[in-house]
Amino acid sequence: MRILIADDSNVSRHLLESIVKKWGYQVITTADGNQAWDALQQPDAPRMAILDWMMPGLTGPEVCRLVRQKGIEPYTYILLLTSRTQKEDVIEGMTAGADDYVVKPFDQQELNVRLRAGRRIIDLQDELLKAQALLRHQATHDALTGVNNRGQITEVLDGCVAGDGPLGVIMLDIDKFKLVNDTFGHAAGDAVLIATAERLAGALSGQDTLGRYGGEEFLVVTRREPAELQAFAEMLRQRIAGEPVLAGGQEFNVTASFGVASRNGKKIEGGNELLKAADEALYSAKHQGRNRVVVAAARE
Ligand code: GH3
Ligand code: MG
Ligand code: MG
Repeated sequence: MRILIADDSNVSRHLLESIVKKWGYQVITTADGNQAWDALQQPDAPRMAILDWMMPGLTGPEVCRLVRQKGIEPYTYILLLTSRTQKEDVIEGMTAGADDYVVKPFDQQELNVRLRAGRRIIDLQDELLKAQALLRHQATHDALTGVNNRGQITEVLDGCVAGDGPLGVIMLDIDKFKLVNDTFGHAAGDAVLIATAERLAGALSGQDTLGRYGGEEFLVVTRREPAELQAFAEMLRQRIAGEPVLAGGQEFNVTASFGVASRNGKKIEGGNELLKAADEALYSAKHQGRNRVVVAAARE
């Protein structure tokens, strides 16, 4: 755990530094409030700070107030050092956003337990942030294939509709997929879905987003130029059909049918318009014999 110590008194700062180091903290020191504020705004800033009350530049409470105003994430645990013992001062410091305070001259054991209390808060917040990130991931991703789920890819599409520039969707559906399940079992079907998602994901670049739209249906939202879309979809088709998928020690010849639609520089009301056009093109690809790309006619 890294900790910032800001104190203008050399004696006090060196003493604090040596004590805190002995307890296993990595220490960064500054001798005034402005430097402390700088250090706490760095991208990889220490998560804990011991700030002297009176310092040149910003005072300890002023640094606290700035840290809280900026809402620096993740949370910085701040301990104020004060030689004053008056109650009003403590209240002022805590109001400024300090988590705790220690009165100088401090008792080493007391400082130690207060720092440990701070670490507990930081550890708890880290766990909370991790749990949040996991929940966010679960809410937006498909559990089987790991790609964006339907809700998320739809949101990505709607976000793109709101913006300018080229926008296209490629909807694809695995051909005769039910046969895989019926012949080799559901687990084999799952493995084929995972392998298909991997192949698709491996072919995308920064302007494309992949999602699982339904059971064996995937959607690519892309910012590529309309003229590129057919060739791009064709490349995806070949990537899937080009060589058998290895799943559960078995080889599967997987193909998919593709429907492509693009905004073509026209104004559209919502993502649904593109989805509907791509779905119709996909339907027509199925009817024309599957394993092919059909591009929706440009709309008037
Ligand atoms: P088509 O070429 O017309 O698309 O034929 P199809 O057999 O692919 O289409 P159909 O819609 O008849 O069948 C899709 C099958 O996909 C039915 C469903 O049980 C299966 N499926 C959907 N989700 C999953 C899944 O998560 N895992 C597995 N193993 N199968 C799934
Ligand atoms: Mg299918
Ligand atoms: Mg289907």
